[in-house]
Amino acid sequence: MLRVGVTGGIGSGKSTVSRRLAELGAHVVDADAVAREVVEPGEPTLERIRERFGVHVLRDDGSLDRAALAAIVFPDRDALDALDAITGPAIAARVAQQRAAVPDGVVSVYDMPLLVERGLWVHEHLTVVVEADAETRVRRLVEQRGLSADDARHRIAAQATDEQRRAVADVVLDNSGTPDDLVRAVEALWHERLVPYEANLGSGTRARRPDLARDCVVEPRPDWEPRAERVVARLAAALAPTGVATEVSHIGSTSVPGLIAKDVIDVQVGVHHLDDADRDDVRQVLRDAGYVSSHGVHSDTPHPLGSDPAAWVKRFLGGCDPANHVHVHVREHGSAGWRFALLFRDWLRHEPAERDAYAAEKHRLLGLHESTSDYVVAKEAWFEGAWLRATDWAERTGWQPR
Ligand code: ADP
Repeated sequence: MLRVGVTGGIGSGKSTVSRRLAELGAHVVDADAVAREVVEPGEPTLERIRERFGVHVLRDDGSLDRAALAAIVFPDRDALDALDAITGPAIAARVAQQRAAVPDGVVSVYDMPLLVERGLWVHEHLTVVVEADAETRVRRLVEQRGLSADDARHRIAAQATDEQRRAVADVVLDNSGTPDDLVRAVEALWHERLVPYEANLGSGTRARRPDLARDCVVEPRPDWEPRAERVVARLAAALAPTGVATEVSHIGSTSVPGLIAKDVIDVQVGVHHLDDADRDDVRQVLRDAGYVSSHGVHSDTPHPLGSDPAAWVKRFLGGCDPANHVHVHVREHGSAGWRFALLFRDWLRHEPAERDAYAAEKHRLLGLHESTSDYVVAKEAWFEGAWLRATDWAERTGWQPR
């Protein structure tokens, strides 16, 4: 099941986006609605609030007096933390319960204002951020929701900034235009990305890159680094409970600034033992995170040529997101293949002349090979020489894998 987090500052248009996604067929959990539910009369959470803050935060009919509670917690950081400690786990549990009940094949949307502030975006396959500049939001909140301009500005100032949200956004929906513009952008996102992503997840199919090498290899893109950071953060979070991973790192050409590359984010997962990658629970976690194993690929070409292939075995997985091609290489921590992936990246990052020579070789091979797989095979000859030079560089500089 595809999990999509929708967030944005107050008045950005988040609810408008979630409403349209629900009409298109998504199941939407609204964090604000759940936050209200867990403090309804009869809920254990309301009882704990009464125990902590006293009976005067309840009205005569037993319901929560929000104004009274706000008067206590807003001026007092400790009180606010205490309230969060009571309500946070209750909200999280109920959200998890509601999302667990979403049937297969249905996109699960979590409409959550604090998705970024709370770091919860790492558990979603995609983070959708709705944006409109602060003054536009204030105007809409005043005109359409009846807030005072001061109140609206206060609330905006208390939330994450647009920059903080954009840093973890997979998709930014600009809501500076009309509501119709926003709805059209939501519809395009739904049809072009969410529906195919969900279908790939359901069937265990990885997204395919274009078959022609020249369509595949592109000039360096500024989004490679932030895309990779999100992939790494999500994989690390997903694998953490299994305890098998030693680290997750961005590797490959997209990790070298200024290098042309296939528009594919390569990520290495170091594991204590390669067998761990075959454990059912680990495969399930990876599959749930959107990565499916590719049965054909089990090793890298050993370097130097003729050395022990056992040191170069790996597991290989491909990502299901049609708009973010990701390859995951699972290698045993400390193995020759694991080490070379990190060395190759650091060497090219530190040696611009080698990076440019590699780019020139890529251009030459692109002129010779039509298909991406032929192009990938042809690069191997260059890699043998690169391995020697990189190894020499590591010895000279005292490089160690980080
Ligand atoms: P959020 O859920 O992010 O706080 P809403 O979706 O409720 O934001 O939008 C805030 C207000 O602005 C609502 O009254 C909504 O109808 C209105 N609104 C949303 N998008 C637009 C737009 N593009 N133009 C004008 N008003 C809008």
